[in-house]
Amino acid sequence: MSADGEPRNERRITVIGAGLAGAVLATLLANRGWQVDVYEKRGDPRVAGYAGGRSINLALAERGRHALRLAGGDDAVMAQAVMMRGRMVHFADGRTDLQRYGRDDSEVIWSVHRGELNVILLDIAERAGARLHFDRALESVDFAARRASFRNPASDEVETVDFCSLVGADGAGSSLRAAMARETDLGERTEYLGHSYKELEIPPAQDGDFRIEPNALHIWPRGRYMCIALPNDEHTFTVTLFLPNEGEPSFASVRTGADARALFERDFGDALPLIPRLEHDFEHNPTGLLATLYLERWHLRDRAVLLGDAAHAMVPFHGQGMNCAFEDCVALADHLDRESDREAAFARFQAERLPNARAIQQMALENYLEMRDRVDDDDYLLQRALERQLADRHPDRFVPRYTMVSFRRVPYAVALERGNAQRELLVELTRGHASLDTLDWNRVDAVVRERLEPLAADL
Ligand SMILES: Cc1cc2nc3c(=O)[nH]c(=O)nc-3n(C[C@H](O)[C@H](O)[C@H](O)COP(=O)(O)OP(=O)(O)OC[C@H]3O[C@@H](n4cnc5c(N)ncnc54)[C@H](O)[C@@H]3O)c2cc1C
Repeated sequence: MSADGEPRNERRITVIGAGLAGAVLATLLANRGWQVDVYEKRGDPRVAGYAGGRSINLALAERGRHALRLAGGDDAVMAQAVMMRGRMVHFADGRTDLQRYGRDDSEVIWSVHRGELNVILLDIAERAGARLHFDRALESVDFAARRASFRNPASDEVETVDFCSLVGADGAGSSLRAAMARETDLGERTEYLGHSYKELEIPPAQDGDFRIEPNALHIWPRGRYMCIALPNDEHTFTVTLFLPNEGEPSFASVRTGADARALFERDFGDALPLIPRLEHDFEHNPTGLLATLYLERWHLRDRAVLLGDAAHAMVPFHGQGMNCAFEDCVALADHLDRESDREAAFARFQAERLPNARAIQQMALENYLEMRDRVDDDDYLLQRALERQLADRHPDRFVPRYTMVSFRRVPYAVALERGNAQRELLVELTRGHASLDTLDWNRVDAVVRERLEPLAADL
């Protein structure tokens, strides 16, 4: 306790939300000897079964794996992950093409089941010594008195506990953020994309195997809209249909299972026979909204701080929301451990992470356009071919943006800035060319050396 009786410097923290980020942060801090209490609105998924509701599988990349290695969870997670080497593009005429994400199988992303991942993370958090309290939904906070109240959704009982500081890992609809916003202006702004999503399922084949290539993220790009499918370790695929909210086609025009079948017959012909319960899935699964959440401030003095989706929810098109949230956890644990002044630790965490969150939010929005509209475009394919050549010829200078985001831990803001410079270069160098054969490679190499500084090898 400090002189005014307030518990400032204790290595004690209360985390709201035992989802993906909450469990990882709890593990990282408990492993360093912190006393960690985690309060989760839902029941324990290890007892009650996973009641996720949202996307069933997620793409895990290097940033996320780095955090999992530090938390001691990477091996268990990877044991149930399915490798995705690249995008399998399904063209409207039925052709398919695998566009690799990286150089080889050392540069791939992994499909992991959200529910199984959450269970593994809860196990490691508990093993590390974190105390998990389920069926406790944060309801109100008295920041001055450092007291938080939680309601048990089943019994309706309310429990009030003392805290030193709160960490909001309670997702996009964060209750802690709402409580903080009643104390101070967080500069909150939500931008809706105007597009939503619906999940569908491809079951295993009759012989129990995958129905389509398992080691890829499948995309059916159709201009203003698209479908994607990610493999699950039980040999199913989770298909996500992304459509605008208005116009033709949209969730306003495709309302029933029969409408969905007509859309698939017209636009996703090769996917239709793979989804036997299309009408059922379409009518029973919720339609998910897509939005980007921007905040100017992530912390309230030394009392509370936000991370993950609670601080910076983003659209899912770079598959980085969880990866970014895990990177937040590593950064916050480091700042808390290094800096005994809690408010200063929160401020440093925000200063480090907010610009990077903004950058990945922007790249995620840009990637929607790329996935649904560009992956089958000739100019784009030529630029991609040159990008691969330049990455081979200048591995220290020309690192594709996707590589910086997914296979390295280059700060997102640096990846965005370098990515923009590289994209301008690709457009400039391919202008007026229909193939790479007509390029003057001496000039190309000179331009790369002149415009791009080497990227530090450890980033
Ligand atoms: C369609 C879709 C696809 C996605 N695909 C990817 C992907 O491929 N790769 C990727 O990296 N990211 C992906 N994401 C993003 C990813 O799901 C999120 O970024 C990630 O779940 C954020 O983790 P979190 O712990 O911050 O929040 P959450 O995972 O939402 O966890 C929040 C937790 O807090 C609990 N909670 C909520 N309110 C309260 C309360 N009042 N009191 C106590 N507990 C509470 C919730 O029950 C939950 O357990 C995708 C998202 C969507 C919507």
